[in-house]
Amino acid sequence: MSGLPEKDPCAHFAHEDDYPGLDLEGAARRLGAALALRTVYDTPQTTDFAPFDALYDLICSSFPLISRHGRTERVGHSILITVSGTDPELSAALLLAHQDVVDVVPGTEELWEHDPFGGHVDEEWIWGRGALDIKEMLMGELEALEHLLSLHGRPRRTVILAFGEDEEVSSLGATALAAELERRGVHAAFSLDEGVSTFADAAPYGAPGTVVSDVCLSQKGYLDLRLTVRGEGGHSSNPFGGTSLERLCVAIARLAEHPLPPRLVGPVASTFETLAPLVSSEPVRSLVADVEGNADELARYAASVRALHPLVCTTMAVDQIGGSSPAPNVMPADATATLNLRLLPGTTVEDVLAWTSGLVGPEVEVEVLHATPAGRVDEAGGPGYDELVGVMGRYHPGTLVVPSIMCGGTDSVRYERVCGKLLRMTPFRPAHDELARGLHGVNERIARRVYAQGIRVLLALLERTVL
Ligand SMILES: [Zn+2]
Repeated sequence: MSGLPEKDPCAHFAHEDDYPGLDLEGAARRLGAALALRTVYDTPQTTDFAPFDALYDLICSSFPLISRHGRTERVGHSILITVSGTDPELSAALLLAHQDVVDVVPGTEELWEHDPFGGHVDEEWIWGRGALDIKEMLMGELEALEHLLSLHGRPRRTVILAFGEDEEVSSLGATALAAELERRGVHAAFSLDEGVSTFADAAPYGAPGTVVSDVCLSQKGYLDLRLTVRGEGGHSSNPFGGTSLERLCVAIARLAEHPLPPRLVGPVASTFETLAPLVSSEPVRSLVADVEGNADELARYAASVRALHPLVCTTMAVDQIGGSSPAPNVMPADATATLNLRLLPGTTVEDVLAWTSGLVGPEVEVEVLHATPAGRVDEAGGPGYDELVGVMGRYHPGTLVVPSIMCGGTDSVRYERVCGKLLRMTPFRPAHDELARGLHGVNERIARRVYAQGIRVLLALLERTVL
């Protein structure tokens, strides 16, 4: 829900004295050490895997109880950690994160106060690329599991940590990890992966003053399409039938004017249902009296609100155009455009291709450049979900946890065959301006307090689900 007024998460912290035995000084130092490793993934051929090797070594040497009770191994350059539970009847709990980080944007190096791969730790902050996406979660999951083992010994339920190597690029690592789990016959009751990491005011939902936090139960699909219109070129004095560029623009306009209809998917319907008693403004107040019956109207309303638009629409962004002529009096040859679409769960790549070809006509060639289908839609409630809601309620009182969907991608979608419920929610809650600047930007850093609180959330979630 970007674009909403954000609340200062520190104002919501509670029970910061939980788990007094947590080694927070050591945890900050270990996160700094992980951030000092430049785990930037490029391609299998061109990636420098030495930092990935070093991260694996750091994990193996930093968590003695995980090493003693569990098994830490590599699948390619991805990492799989299994702490077997004492009750083999129980399905596992799966905690996800990715090792890779995006590189520093060229030209912004000078703007960083500390080396983005220096692992600088001071009184208040832990600095470096990956501090918010998503090494804090990777190392935080390890800290939580290590402390859980120190407090309780082996859990009843098996705990699996899976860290892909290339989430920012192609998720081949997560695909291989999931295949390995499937090969071993492992099934997880639930998983937790990165997700929305901010609190937001629910004003766009008609409930101003209510602070909400999303647990995402699905994710949108990703599709790059290239449209091509062939052209002969030639002199502009007889553009009979339109130039290739003109016909391409007409095709784009037809798509823009006839978008796929907005739709209320399950988790977004649940958002409105959860918020219903708190909704005070129209037209939402009347509509949420019967969310199911008014689903189409609610979807149309949400589509008209910037913050909610991507939650109910298969969106299309026209991002690139090519083939324009070198001179004003020369007609262009082949003209191309690339469109980036984000597919609502339930809308397939085939649906989009049928919609496209129905509107643009046969002379426009449509080519799929890259596609990741939308995720499965899981139900709110049940194992993992209920405990996560309870834990967020304890540590962030005054916020309401609502089901939703992710508009960006995560590795989670790769684990659908081995996991019953895929939850996406980042327990580390930086202030809004920190996130806006640091995530894939400059001076990425995490406050020690935010890091500690996220570890408590993970620890409490494990205590409630695996003991
Ligand atoms: Zn990420």
